[in-house]
Amino acid sequence: MALASLAALVPVAAAQDSGTTKAMEREPGLPDDGREVAAARASVQAAAPDRAKSAADRTARVTPRTGTVSWRDSVAHGVANAGWLEDGVQLPATGTGFYTYNPATQSPPGGAERRWGHDRLVREIVDLGRWWARRHPNGPRLGVGDLSRPSGGPFHGPVVGHVSHQNGLDVDIRLVRADGSEAQVGASDYDRERTQQIVDRLVERGAELVLVGPSLRLTGPPGVVVTWPNHDDHLHVRFPKPAAD
Ligand SMILES: [Zn+2]
Repeated sequence: MALASLAALVPVAAAQDSGTTKAMEREPGLPDDGREVAAARASVQAAAPDRAKSAADRTARVTPRTGTVSWRDSVAHGVANAGWLEDGVQLPATGTGFYTYNPATQSPPGGAERRWGHDRLVREIVDLGRWWARRHPNGPRLGVGDLSRPSGGPFHGPVVGHVSHQNGLDVDIRLVRADGSEAQVGASDYDRERTQQIVDRLVERGAELVLVGPSLRLTGPPGVVVTWPNHDDHLHVRFPKPAAD
């Protein structure tokens, strides 16, 4: 598929390097200075390469069956733009009130390697789905995009990648479509009122960051609900790193 037509399908900005076939979702992280990110990544990797490997081994052993969650206590290392995830939990492809989708194809389900998060994040998504299903029993369900890789770390493509989403605390959630379907959505065909309900719920649940596209007119506390380019078809949500991590 040509890059031009692909770019029209993906929910994120095409990489600034036009020579790449990937699209990268560029979001703020802490730190967001390139040198600081590099230094933080180096220190994370230097401190724990063996732990990262053993965490990956444990991840392989606990991959759950479809529709079930194998809960365990996770640890988020580093920051969203330079970190990794220890003992992550895989979000099922579907659950009460939600489905997952792969942003590279805009079709369900989300890839098995793209649905890993800190247990705090996965619990929030599962709870959000149940809350949504009670509120809107006739659907549509919430569309959940990428979380993190099985052990976190850099989230390059193929096709769609992220600068953040590295330590298991970030997730993308589709806007709600006005026509009630569960297809791809944009600023012109979304339901602002119902999407605002999701934003409000996320803020109430303690999300530290919700990025919303500039065309959406979604609101919330300054510094938490933040207008950000290339987010007119999904919310980027970040939960805070647990104090124990
Ligand atoms: Zn995101």
